[in-house]
Amino acid sequence: SNFHRLRCDGIRQGGPNTIKRYGTRISFDFTCSMDLLGQFSFDGNEFAAKDFGNQFHFLPSAVLHPKKVSDIAATIKHVWQMGPASGLTVAARGHGHSLQGQAQAPQGIVINMESLSGQEMQVHRGKFPYVDVPAGELWINILHECLKYGLAPKSWTDYLHLTVGGTLSNAGISGQAFRHGPQISNVHQLEVVTGKGEVVVCSEEKNADLFHAVLGGLGQFGIITRARISLEPAPKMVKWIRVLYSDFSTFARDQEYLISAENTFDYIEGLVIVNKTGLINNWRASFNPEDPEQANQFVSDGRTLFCLELTKNFNPDEATKTNKEIKSLLSQLSYIPSTLFVTEVSYVEFLDRVHAAELKLRSKGLWELPHPWLNLLVPRSKIHSFAEGVFGSILTDTNNGPVLVYPVNKSKWDNRTSFVTPEEDIFYLVAFLPHAVPSSTENNGLQHLLSINKRILNFCEAAHLGVKQYLPYYTTQEEWRSHYGPRWEVFVQRKSAYDPLAILAPGQRIFQKAI
Ligand code: FAD
Repeated sequence: SNFHRLRCDGIRQGGPNTIKRYGTRISFDFTCSMDLLGQFSFDGNEFAAKDFGNQFHFLPSAVLHPKKVSDIAATIKHVWQMGPASGLTVAARGHGHSLQGQAQAPQGIVINMESLSGQEMQVHRGKFPYVDVPAGELWINILHECLKYGLAPKSWTDYLHLTVGGTLSNAGISGQAFRHGPQISNVHQLEVVTGKGEVVVCSEEKNADLFHAVLGGLGQFGIITRARISLEPAPKMVKWIRVLYSDFSTFARDQEYLISAENTFDYIEGLVIVNKTGLINNWRASFNPEDPEQANQFVSDGRTLFCLELTKNFNPDEATKTNKEIKSLLSQLSYIPSTLFVTEVSYVEFLDRVHAAELKLRSKGLWELPHPWLNLLVPRSKIHSFAEGVFGSILTDTNNGPVLVYPVNKSKWDNRTSFVTPEEDIFYLVAFLPHAVPSSTENNGLQHLLSINKRILNFCEAAHLGVKQYLPYYTTQEEWRSHYGPRWEVFVQRKSAYDPLAILAPGQRIFQKAI
């Protein structure tokens, strides 16, 4: 029948609602038997058809605002029991910071994970501290909660207004990943609702295959409802350093040196700067040049420059020791001497730095624009060919947003997870993060920026660079198969074990629910 019913116990959720779907009608008849503590909404769901990318907008039929994990389990179990013919899909939505509709469910059900975030976070101290959190919690809130105990997670993203479930479904990569691995390498245990509506607790010891499947699993195998995250003692302060290079090879050599050096920095990233004047003047607002006179004389002249960005954590009573260590590490590097810029901020201020930028962009109306971002993982042996072909050549401008480039150690990634990396000991994250001005036909127009992304991808393919997309976006299963390479079979096997009807995360466009 084309007429389906989502039945529920107990509370009447506002009477029968009818929604158009694929030209047929689905009735969400909540008059009966599902014992929900949360509720469904059928109107005002436009937020669930939006994301940070702001290019894809698919309205769901309904949004579930769960109050308990059992609300999620009951809903998915119901969709599972409706069988393949319903065609109904379910997407967890964290903070909706996906780029191409990955957290959307066209005419399906979106689960608003943030409504679970009211549940308690539990910090456990001791020799190996950890925190248990609801998966809809934002990392910024976890940071603040853990700091009450002098603790903090070890591995971050550059921006903390993202949910635990959202970043663990991808990887969670930032300047700490070279040492601690991505966020998916810093999780002890998960609670997951599978595509059959079963609630399963999993870890390396228990239900290990599901645990690994879900980490970096793009939401394909289950909805993460709780996570146990590894913690460390939190520092109070951060020395934040920027230096410039005009030569990519020297820059990359120093980055690679630092990610394996002893007693090295705590955070190591880098930026590409193309065709920007007045750069150092901009930095002066927050950074101090070590040698103001020489810095005054530095002119970028429209050259392509590479900025190494570093931090060292410290507590106020260790400032002298920390300065010494920094000096010694910097003495090993070959940056342009007049371009050493240093500042000192609190740990929270550093970790929440992109939010400060967000507030500025919002005030100028630049945050809600389309974001045609492209994130790539480039094997170390190919990074020079990549840099030559892309920076300063395909890329003619970086005025619409940052371009990040930094190496990480593959040994910190667990290849039992669903995440696939390039096959080398060191690989680079290269992130092109522009915003587009929708109607512009200039360099900042959406079509222009998308065409640059296409050129970069085509270049990588033609030159056989062995690049993987991070936060991947593909339109055909063939492309997914090639993304996963030899791991594709395992991916498919896990899908048929945990979400055999392909109900979950349809916005990734990997599997299609049979209709
Ligand atoms: P959503 O967009 O809501 O969801 C992402 C995907 O995960 C969807 O497929 C969704 O269905 C699924 N999902 C969501 N919650 C769950 C759950 N509980 N269980 C199972 N599946 C779920 N990434 C980095 O690694 N490093 C960075 O430094 C970084 N910086 C960023 C900065 C900004 C400004 C933005 C917008 C993004 C950044 N990202 C970064 C990317 C970010 O990690 C991903 O976009 C992430 O998915 C966003 O989390 P979210 O909570 O908004 O997830």
